[in-house]
Amino acid sequence: MAREHTFAEQVLDWFVTHGRHDLPWQQNPTPYRVWVSEIMLQQTQVTTVIPYYKRFMEGFPEVQALAAAPVDQVLHLWTGLGYYARARNLHKAARQVCAEHGGHFPNSVEELESLPGIGRSTAGAIAALAMHIRAPILDGNVKRVLTRYFAIATYPESSAVKARLWELAETLLPECGVAAYTQAMMDLGATLCTRSQPDCERCPLADRCQALAAGEIAKYPGKKPRQDKPVKAVQMLILHNGQGEVLLEKRADAGIWGGLYSLPEQPLVRHTGQDEPAAHCMVEYNGLSCDLTDAIRLPEVRHSFTHFRLDIFPLVIETEPASSTGVADSDRWLWYPLDHSLEVGLAAPVKKLLSRLAEDSRPIAR
Ligand code: SF4
Repeated sequence: MAREHTFAEQVLDWFVTHGRHDLPWQQNPTPYRVWVSEIMLQQTQVTTVIPYYKRFMEGFPEVQALAAAPVDQVLHLWTGLGYYARARNLHKAARQVCAEHGGHFPNSVEELESLPGIGRSTAGAIAALAMHIRAPILDGNVKRVLTRYFAIATYPESSAVKARLWELAETLLPECGVAAYTQAMMDLGATLCTRSQPDCERCPLADRCQALAAGEIAKYPGKKPRQDKPVKAVQMLILHNGQGEVLLEKRADAGIWGGLYSLPEQPLVRHTGQDEPAAHCMVEYNGLSCDLTDAIRLPEVRHSFTHFRLDIFPLVIETEPASSTGVADSDRWLWYPLDHSLEVGLAAPVKKLLSRLAEDSRPIAR
């Protein structure tokens, strides 16, 4: 029975006829030329890079020319490519190569990685493409291919998954032909296994690709987990005047719930659960007299905003009916009927809270 082709053999076979062979940095692929191309290709499309690369090579054909140039001249040739730290690091690294390595790039991944602006994957690419060293790469293209092929759904930048992907990238390397294989992996990710709508029909890995088999390509690579939003807390006072109305306050136009009516708020002291609402009422609401003896705490309500969550701790307080007139003599305050017979804009969680209150009048009627 014929032996199954390995992953690398499938990729290499495909590369012979379908890979890219005429990119400028593939001609005379010295470490210097490969290095410059790899740095330019970070976060930048091949078609954008080509004219910049050609101009750069005309200006600085060798690492010595780059090292000898003033940094402004390097930045001038980089203008328009963006991410200028790349150009500054390129210049620094060129000087280091000349000063510490006699103008020759060191021939180990570890030493390459010690140069400014060269990470493990770039070091691997220089080593494999220009020095034929069996070193893996793990750029965005390769991560995408591997996470789909092996159906690795966790976010690939998490340290455990990254370590696993490096291990796989290393294991899959062919014994020989590492330069072609490295270029092939880059090409496969860039031309077939693209971010959206990969061309699986033409992919040499289709027969064993686990994402394709499961029909779940969109799941890979895994998305960045959502950061937990910060949680803020506030106490909202449901000041009930004994006549089926609660006190609402119009919010300032700027900020959250701008221009809507909401319940009066108090900063919450989490340990005690409340911060002297009676005194607060007297000061803030034009002398409104509150009776706290029968205040009722309702279950908290969580509301999500884009950047934080707000835990609302509602506290129902009966006010003296006689004192409720003065406070409403202002555009800012409103005695709102719980039967919703008044049409005003309400903050979403307040609307929910008041509807619940209206449905279950026990806390207020008692
Ligand atoms: S079969 Fe499709 S999803 Fe799988 S590696 Fe190939 S292009 Fe990517």
